Amino acid sequence: MSLGSVWFVGAGPGDPELITVKGRRLLGEAGAVLYAGSLVDEACTRYCPPTCELRDSKDMTLEEIDAWLAAAASRHLVVVRLQTGDPGLYGALAEMTRGLDAAGIEWAVVPGVSSALASAAAAGETLTLPEVTQTVIFTRVAGRTPMPPGESLRDLAAHRSTLCIFLSITLLHEVRDELLEAGWSLDAPVLVVHKASWPGQEIIVRGTLADIKRRCQDAKIASQAMIIASPALGARAWESLARSKLYDPTFSHRFRKRQETPT
Ligand code: SAH
Repeated sequence: MSLGSVWFVGAGPGDPELITVKGRRLLGEAGAVLYAGSLVDEACTRYCPPTCELRDSKDMTLEEIDAWLAAAASRHLVVVRLQTGDPGLYGALAEMTRGLDAAGIEWAVVPGVSSALASAAAAGETLTLPEVTQTVIFTRVAGRTPMPPGESLRDLAAHRSTLCIFLSITLLHEVRDELLEAGWSLDAPVLVVHKASWPGQEIIVRGTLADIKRRCQDAKIASQAMIIASPALGARAWESLARSKLYDPTFSHRFRKRQETPT
């Protein structure tokens, strides 16, 4: 029987201040923390008690991770598995929780700020814009992990909505080819953010489908980067913008009556 439970905590995108209040509290109470590489070690050193057992998971297999978490939960009330961004995005959450279920160990998830959101924030961009796009797709290009049927970037890009593309910075040529095949134009704007929110290390690169690869090469970005392709990019500089109904004076909603337009 285990003594404690395992909390899968989203550490956020890199800035230690972007962890949730709950995640930070759990780190402060943790007897053991298994963290995912250099992305999150700063949060551990800041918030974990000095007596806390710390282990980097970067060289571990799934079986070793499950065994480590189970052993830690037999000794401590609070065990944290600290993951980058949100644990539910490209974080192998289902595999790990199955192992804990099989071992009869209680677990729960604390969400985190995903790097997709931190990247948009870093660049001051909105991912949705009235009458332009009201949909955001989180995806990746097939690397060694194949894409399920119907989820090729070309298929997804056909929607002309916002695409937040994870794990694909070394495959920018494929991103360009797939978007072009889906009908995007060479001058479509693309944003790349490297180490979004990392104090002093964030790099923002703006370009188009035609030149974003070269611009990233010039900026020496080859890892830890988010690619955002969206018809809403740069909207704040557009001459005309459809207004959001939420703040439109001629639109009523639950908290505000429409104002009569002055004659
Ligand atoms: N669960 C994480 C994603 C893990 S997959 C999340 O919600 O953000 C790892 C990929 O996330 C990287 O290849 C990169 O595309 C992206 N990523 C993680 N941290 C990032 C950051 N600080 N800035 C930009 N991209 C980041």
